Amino acid sequence: MFTLGCTGRCACAEAQWLANCKTSFMDKVTIPEADVIAFDSLAQDVTGLRILMVNIYAIKQGSGEWMLIDCGLPHAEGRIRDWAAQHFGAGNAPQSILLTHGHFDHAGSVEALAESWNVPVYVHPLELPYVTGTSPYPPPDPSVGGGLMARLSGLYPRSPVDISSRVKVLPDSGAVPGFAAWRWIHTPGHTDGHVSLFRDFDRTLIAGDAFCTTKQESFLAVATQKPEMHGPPAYYTTDWDAARDSVQRLAALRPNSMGPGHGQPLAGLDAANALTELARNFDAIARPAHGKYVDQPTA
Ligand SMILES: [Zn+2]
Ligand SMILES: [Zn+2]
Repeated sequence: MFTLGCTGRCACAEAQWLANCKTSFMDKVTIPEADVIAFDSLAQDVTGLRILMVNIYAIKQGSGEWMLIDCGLPHAEGRIRDWAAQHFGAGNAPQSILLTHGHFDHAGSVEALAESWNVPVYVHPLELPYVTGTSPYPPPDPSVGGGLMARLSGLYPRSPVDISSRVKVLPDSGAVPGFAAWRWIHTPGHTDGHVSLFRDFDRTLIAGDAFCTTKQESFLAVATQKPEMHGPPAYYTTDWDAARDSVQRLAALRPNSMGPGHGQPLAGLDAANALTELARNFDAIARPAHGKYVDQPTA
């Protein structure tokens, strides 16, 4: 099911943009509200939390071992520790942390959390330069449109975090260390070393920024969080062909439940169908018409 929407390269303010934009073409796949689920009911032994505009998740197994997936914005460590204590017991540190990628909104609190819990942090090998203080990410592209969040993206911190003493590379086999029911899937495009997590027995997907269920470039959409299927956050995505291939790989898994890095967790057939539509029509729906990385990927 599609609705038409404006991709927002209007000069008008964000609210007026929504009300007034007449030029409409496809930029999302709509999803019924009924497919939105609470973070706590994403799936068995999976829980999550939204802090401002970004989601984190935790996976659990056995008698209380758990892993944190992503670490939110800088200075979120106190909030995350409180949430973890509530869910997993005070003093029950995770076995490890896994980063879907190292952008500041997913790795912002990783140094503080890894330090206080004394745990390793797993990343894809291609993400290493960005989490060991070696290299900044390519600069974001505010010209890809979509509103305030995109226009502000030039102000987002870009300098790499440095977790050299904690970082571990994910094993080639696709195994998620210590969590046998899960596997990681390389889903590049948004970043070179971006990964998503999948659990086959109930087809649960933790997607990172491979796609969003809100229009992440738009402040209003981020604030209201209506369920819609969009591509990855455009201002940070540096290889659109790879991003399309990654969405196609995830859609082929036909996830039952999906937890994105931005937007609401979703479950059900409509959500899976919306992801399939996004995969089929990725270039029309998600790829910006213009932009620094649209024709010249960095990879
Ligand atoms: Zn990102
Ligand atoms: Zn993000």
